[in-house]
Amino acid sequence: MEKVLQYLNASPTVFFILKKINGLWELEYVTDNVIKIYGKTADDFLKRKYYHSDFIHKVDLKRFNQEASSISKIEEDEFTYEPYRIVKGSQIIWLNHTTKIIRDKNGDVNAYYGYLTDITKQKQLYNELSNTSNILDSIFNNSFNFILLLDNKGKLLKANQTSLQIVGLEEKNVIGKYFWNLPWWSYYSEKEKESLIKDISLISLGSTLKEHKYYFNTLNKRIEVDFCFSPVFDDEGNVTYILCEAHDITQSINTQKKLDQYINIVNEHVYISISDLNGRVVNISDAYCKLTGYLRDELMGKNHNIFKHPDNDDQTFVELWETITKGRLWKGEHKNIKKDGSFFWVENSITPNFDEKGNITGYTSIYNDITDKKEISELLITDYLTKIYNRRHFNTMFNLELKRSHRDKNNFVLMILDIDYFKQYNDTYGHAAGDIALEKVANTLKYTLNRAEDFVFRLGGEEFGVITSKVNINGVKILANRLKESIQNLNIKHESSVVCNYLSISIGIKIVEPTSKLSQNDIYKLADKSLYKAKEEGRNKLVISY
Ligand code: GH3
Ligand code: MG
Ligand code: MG
Repeated sequence: MEKVLQYLNASPTVFFILKKINGLWELEYVTDNVIKIYGKTADDFLKRKYYHSDFIHKVDLKRFNQEASSISKIEEDEFTYEPYRIVKGSQIIWLNHTTKIIRDKNGDVNAYYGYLTDITKQKQLYNELSNTSNILDSIFNNSFNFILLLDNKGKLLKANQTSLQIVGLEEKNVIGKYFWNLPWWSYYSEKEKESLIKDISLISLGSTLKEHKYYFNTLNKRIEVDFCFSPVFDDEGNVTYILCEAHDITQSINTQKKLDQYINIVNEHVYISISDLNGRVVNISDAYCKLTGYLRDELMGKNHNIFKHPDNDDQTFVELWETITKGRLWKGEHKNIKKDGSFFWVENSITPNFDEKGNITGYTSIYNDITDKKEISELLITDYLTKIYNRRHFNTMFNLELKRSHRDKNNFVLMILDIDYFKQYNDTYGHAAGDIALEKVANTLKYTLNRAEDFVFRLGGEEFGVITSKVNINGVKILANRLKESIQNLNIKHESSVVCNYLSISIGIKIVEPTSKLSQNDIYKLADKSLYKAKEEGRNKLVISY
């Protein structure tokens, strides 16, 4: 008996006996290990210092009492309570409680014994498991993805809501069917079905498979789907289930298609190029390749200055780079050169491209071919015969340059140049020769004037205008003489001229001080007057009005 008690006390299970005394159930015996569960000794209970019910958690107490009161009425002699909680200080302990009824000879119940076992750990484990399983169920049921659970032969066990919605079917249409026999593959050929069967058998051997497929739903709408099949293994490494997950990517595929169409339109119709930080081509539209006459491969990796026409003002490109390297948009016009050497004009908008950290990764240029526009505006300001600026542009530039020289406090200079005895020249050598002479004179004037502030115009007939600024009286004289000499140095024979054997010019000049209030008209008249004077004084000379 001693030995038995020893065993009982050493076990984690508390053993107790209750007896009916004067109609009440009283604790008659409890093993000493009761202290492990309640923190109170067997004596504490036996001397009625504490009662078992004092410890039962209030949430479970009512149920416990109900169950306890029905014990004597039960048929069987053994009764197991629903596990309940007791409170031990701040701890909650789950108990398993089994009792066994002892009856007397008449079959009356006047004693019973029982076992109490701490099952807190098991309970926690169970809760965790059931939580995990709840989480998995929730994922399965609420996922936006299409999820199917197949057995290892490919038979459908479960289909989540999303999958049923996507295919437009009910559970009863699909559960229990083999994957390859599912209704949405009905349009598949036998060969295609065979490949599905092969896929499933591969997965049931442990492979994972990812595939893009499409099918038609019950509304006959084409659905694009990315499938992922993965095997589920048991502890021994056998495949027990196959998990099939799928994303409906119809919308993103359609969006991509639209985007591709849009990109194609841009590629075919928009002049666009993308460069790296150094201006090397990293992408370029077909339209722009076509315009420039290059093949895409000839341009990839080449520097954009392959398009730069030598006529461009270098300052334009200095400003361009200063702007875009600061991350700003640059807009401007420049002249470009094609593969065949011909030129075209572009209006160019360059936007820097940034990475997600805000660093510049390159630049996108969008061009507008403005060659026609440029040609028309060039035509409007160009003299048809000599190809230098015409009278219209003279009026514009006269106004602009006069204002500018006032603003910058520089002298403004207007020269009117007229060929001497040109009527006689025509009469002697013919009108066509006269035209050639005019072209030569115009070009000579143009190339003799080489500063950015110098402009030359054909004002009409054999009369030319020169506008210049930032030059003093001495400088004006030097310049005018150089022009006069350059014409004479053309050595165009002019036998009927009384002043010179060669074609010569007379020049009337007006120098305008920055403080002058003279109008454009006044200045013109004064220069013309000087010219008249130069003619009067014998021609082939210059007269300056200060
Ligand atoms: P002056 O020394 O006084 O300037 O004598 P001029 O003969 O040059 O002056 P005038 O104004 O009498 O004659 C200008 C001539 O220029 C008349 C015309 O035959 C000629 N001329 C004007 N425009 C053209 C042109 O486009 N082509 C040619 N070949 N001749 C022109
Ligand atoms: Mg004249
Ligand atoms: Mg003349």
